[in-house]
Amino acid sequence: MHGRVSLQKLCYRGRWEIEPLKLVAYFWLISTRKRETQDMSTFQKSRTGLAETMHRLYQRGLISGVGGNASVLISSENNILITPSGYFKGGIAEGDLVRVTLDGKVVGPGQPSSELPTHIECYRLRKEIGAVVHAHPPAAVALASATGTIPSITPEQTVLVGRVEIVNFSPPGELGAKAVSSSLKRANVVGIRNHGFFALGKDLHEAASRLEVLEEAAKIYLAMSQLGKISSLSEKEVREIREFYSKE
Ligand SMILES: [Zn+2]
Repeated sequence: MHGRVSLQKLCYRGRWEIEPLKLVAYFWLISTRKRETQDMSTFQKSRTGLAETMHRLYQRGLISGVGGNASVLISSENNILITPSGYFKGGIAEGDLVRVTLDGKVVGPGQPSSELPTHIECYRLRKEIGAVVHAHPPAAVALASATGTIPSITPEQTVLVGRVEIVNFSPPGELGAKAVSSSLKRANVVGIRNHGFFALGKDLHEAASRLEVLEEAAKIYLAMSQLGKISSLSEKEVREIREFYSKE
């Protein structure tokens, strides 16, 4: 609306009614306001998306109590939004989320998750990602902790999750970030023995889906083990699946 009205008012019978410098300032103001509006809309979408992701993880049984955390990148401001420490994430509200700079300074109210150092490490190492989700999918944690590996079970897991790296247990915080750091460079999903998984994604949906699909595969694996026969996908089958989906 700004742009249309302005040109008619500013230019009268071919003569500018306003000095050119003021005109430049006027259009600069319009573009700045437009950018601010877009930034606000991105921020609001990220807040909604992050709260909804935590509800989804809880409803799917991938987190419980005050466990789990997630973050999303606000790239225009070099900030992330992260879940707070100690909250029940199944009922988390948009206003509970905490804003933090990419070098770990808290902006505004709230105390970020104790896993903040690992989230920051993910964005530092993987410039292409837009979200990080940490959860405790029970079957996948059991499988990773007992066997130290997650075999390829389903085509969806093969394509969406890919290779999973498992590291030894380490407490959250700086030590936890250090423990997973080298694995984060090679894998989109990294497990911590007797604890949980970090999943990286271009957005929250991709990161959360990786954990859902991982848990599904682990449940199938455990069901097969109860039946007395494990059937994993062979390397040849994994290659064929990846080739097929890369053409889609
Ligand atoms: Zn955890």
